[in-house]
Amino acid sequence: MFSNLKEQPADKILALMQLFKDDPRPQKIDLGVGVYKNAEGITPVMRAVKAAEKQLWETQETKSYVGLAGDPAFADAMISLVLGDMVARENVAAAATPGGTGACRQAFEMIRMANPDARVFVSNPTWPNHLSILSFMKMPVVEYRYFDSNTGGVDFDGMLADLAQAKPGDLVLLHGCCHNPTGANLNLIQWQMVVDSLLKTGATPMIDIAYQGFGDGLEDDAAATRLVASSVPECLIAASCSKNFGVYRERTGILMAVAQDSSLRGLTQGTLNYLNRQNYSFPPDHGARVVTMILQDPELRADWAAELEQVRLSMLGLREQLAGELQRLSGSDRFAFLAQHRGMFSRLGTTSEMVDRLREDHAIYMVGDSRLNIAGLNKDSVPVLAQAIIDCGI
Ligand code: PMP
Repeated sequence: MFSNLKEQPADKILALMQLFKDDPRPQKIDLGVGVYKNAEGITPVMRAVKAAEKQLWETQETKSYVGLAGDPAFADAMISLVLGDMVARENVAAAATPGGTGACRQAFEMIRMANPDARVFVSNPTWPNHLSILSFMKMPVVEYRYFDSNTGGVDFDGMLADLAQAKPGDLVLLHGCCHNPTGANLNLIQWQMVVDSLLKTGATPMIDIAYQGFGDGLEDDAAATRLVASSVPECLIAASCSKNFGVYRERTGILMAVAQDSSLRGLTQGTLNYLNRQNYSFPPDHGARVVTMILQDPELRADWAAELEQVRLSMLGLREQLAGELQRLSGSDRFAFLAQHRGMFSRLGTTSEMVDRLREDHAIYMVGDSRLNIAGLNKDSVPVLAQAIIDCGI
């Protein structure tokens, strides 16, 4: 039986992690995997998470099941964090999921239940897991233009032209902030134009928001999601707590279905509960409970927001240092986009041959599409990376 199975492609980023581990060169720099690292190269447990976990350990009296959609308090706290007061609570159905990935998967499942012929419009490029899950589910994918490697910014005209091809019953997947893998984002005027396009075509948007607080701050990073959710008749939002709460392995995320017609809420909530039941029954609770405790307690929340802000500013500082160093070495502004990008990632926009050279000649590891994790740098390694980029003639 098992011999009938086909070999599956290895995850490229995980394979890169292994290569890095096996590299004996002491000066090696890992800009591959998508986790936040501080200047010492550590992915720390956030202070507020530690404090909430301690409190939880002391007070939790049962680990009995919660509910198919998770704890309603988690949904309330996350809806408020992501949507603020832009959308009435009765317009939102929500279910906790195992991470943002689980939310994406459930979102695709829900769309397929609503329309078995739905096409999913995705940015070119997008987070590879979107493509992998959609291909596994055999859902048709249509790419829309997004990254312009000449400018390091968004090919907005191309994007709008491609989104105009969407139809009612299609899903348009958008990154709420801090686009992965490029780091290039729309401004709010452009977001309004995307909303206008969605209203015109009648396609349904899905926002994947995995980095709220990593770009321009907790509120600014949610602005596009709030604009879309308050403007279109229906949308889906997949939110991850992995990065902004640093609870990667706890698998903490949520899927929200927003409908202006609040009479649909029973149907959407029932569908989200049903999908959780079919796929894994009750969603993980530990991370969600910790997140809820932090968001509900003013002191913990303030401390979490302060630590997150420090994380955000440290990445911005590294971006500015890198762009400045490259400007000095190249005598040009062609790397200025690195300071304009937001979030943990930037796409350099170079070839996979150059990425190989950076790895082979300089022990600098980045993903083959030239995505680099800014948080993999520190102030001492920025000049090393800048020099290597110049030495490779990028
Ligand atoms: N969407 C995007 C765009 C991401 O980059 C990530 C994290 N790599 C996720 C969703 C979900 O991550 P997780 O399942 O770990 O919460």
